[in-house]
Amino acid sequence: MRVKVLEKNERSIEVLIEGISLPIINAIRRYAMTQVPTMAIDEVLVMVNTSPLFDEILAHRLGLIPLKSDEALEKYRSPEECAECTAYARGCENCFAYLRLEAAAEGESVTVYSGDIVSDDPDITPVYKNIPIVTLAPGQRLVVEMRARLGRGIEHIKWSPVTVATNRYVAKINVDRSRCDLCKRCIELCPRKIFYIENNELKVRNEMNCILCKQCERSCPKDAIMLSWYEDKYILRLESTGVLKPERILSESISMLIKKLDELHEQMNKVTVK
Ligand code: SF4
Ligand code: SF4
Repeated sequence: MRVKVLEKNERSIEVLIEGISLPIINAIRRYAMTQVPTMAIDEVLVMVNTSPLFDEILAHRLGLIPLKSDEALEKYRSPEECAECTAYARGCENCFAYLRLEAAAEGESVTVYSGDIVSDDPDITPVYKNIPIVTLAPGQRLVVEMRARLGRGIEHIKWSPVTVATNRYVAKINVDRSRCDLCKRCIELCPRKIFYIENNELKVRNEMNCILCKQCERSCPKDAIMLSWYEDKYILRLESTGVLKPERILSESISMLIKKLDELHEQMNKVTVK
């Protein structure tokens, strides 16, 4: 197996993986979306709300604000452990981070932003300070207390750490140069600028950028382009909401998949032994 990082920055990672089957890569992708835990606001106690938003809409908006979760995975209990905890209803400090939002408009309208949320835990704060929550007209007020906990995207999308999780094939592009008359149609049509002419010959650059849209193959008047893809090479791309670093999401999703398979293996062994 071979893994090559094609792109990595604060918010996204793209890796080329060779020598592994598509179902495994797809499982990693799905685990990234649905199983890697993150923190999100889950309970909202509205003390005062004279804003134009109903309490429910306000709670929904607060729940969708991404919270930094890098430290949370070690610090807070997993959603499953919390669900079994007898102190859950009282608000066990191992399960919950506590946050508060207080705002008032006096002389003129005030827009309340995610950056106005104050957290008891400095590790669990909004990733972005500039998400508008509500605009208060003069005289309106808001006092809200919140509890955030670890959860998984399978329960609600607010806990999913990714905005994009895709895998794609790596294209194989063959040009029959004996047929090509250099009409340039494929050059004009290709959205990824894969083709170019050099020394009176049509050439292909960076096949990995090809999105297999087939525009070139369909439009070539000489049927000179043949598209296919590699059977054991895939590109996995994850884009983070900002709650976790993209490489952490990738490694956590792989670890969780392995853990689940280990559990299955253990159970299967018991069945076999009986
Ligand atoms: S569209 Fe076909 S014939 Fe025209 S340049 Fe491309 S490969 Fe050659
Ligand atoms: S399949 Fe689409 S992206 Fe790929 S080379 Fe052809 S036109 Fe370009």
